[in-house]
Amino acid sequence: MLEIRRLTKHFLGVPALHEVSFIVERGEIAGLIGPNGSGKTTLFDCVTGFLPPDGGNVLYMDRDITFLAPHRIARLGLTRIFQQVRTFPRLTVMENLRAAGQQHQGLTLTGGLLRTKRLRDLDRAVDERARELLDVVQLASTAELPAGTLSYGQQKLLEIAMALMPRPELILLDEPVAGVNPTLIEMIKAYLKRLNGMGTTFLIIEHNLEVVMDLCDRVFVLDSGELIAQGPPSVVQEDERVLEAYFGK
Ligand code: ADP
Ligand code: MG
Repeated sequence: MLEIRRLTKHFLGVPALHEVSFIVERGEIAGLIGPNGSGKTTLFDCVTGFLPPDGGNVLYMDRDITFLAPHRIARLGLTRIFQQVRTFPRLTVMENLRAAGQQHQGLTLTGGLLRTKRLRDLDRAVDERARELLDVVQLASTAELPAGTLSYGQQKLLEIAMALMPRPELILLDEPVAGVNPTLIEMIKAYLKRLNGMGTTFLIIEHNLEVVMDLCDRVFVLDSGELIAQGPPSVVQEDERVLEAYFGK
């Protein structure tokens, strides 16, 4: 579903990614792990069009998306959430979800000015989807509150819900449960599994290795911008290079 070919990115000559290649298969939950600064977020930035790579290619469903703009990539069904919370703090929770949903209406509307009935129907569909997701992440009671007043964990949940608004086929999650309390973590995990069961593919950056072990079919391990291991979590956690990267020699 997603093929990363020899992806390379430098910052002021310092390599953040060096010829990283791997494939995410349709239907799996893949993990991307590695010590701080190993290039995980940079890889997400390059895959989703937020940073131009210096070398290599990104293929999504056999299509080269390497230099496409983020919104065009999102329209193809590939969305992400960021490591730092990026909700609109003064908009209500509902308005945040609407904004995330409406960004994607453009593609179904050609013309538009006179098609108010159609627009209203779309608005209604967006609101329905938003309410459905709010129920799932148990934020329904916060719908009319400014997003900035939610707890950190709740904002993470809101962000996941925002990424899900357009019903993506592949979602890249950058540390979705960092700073989230254990009860919410279980909830998020259960929901991701359910979505995966319904066909959504995931690539997840996560520091919590228990979460990785529980969720992921396969993991990719980065260290200093290089892919040093890949495979089922149980195998990768025994890998010598991985142990070295995490715990030193
Ligand atoms: P990770 O997400 O694995 O913690 P990052 O992808 O954020 O790692 O960072 C990889 C390396 O690239 C780090 O050394 C980081 O300092 C550097 N880096 C990331 N973004 C930038 C940037 N915008 N400008 C300069 N250096 C950056
Ligand atoms: Mg990061």
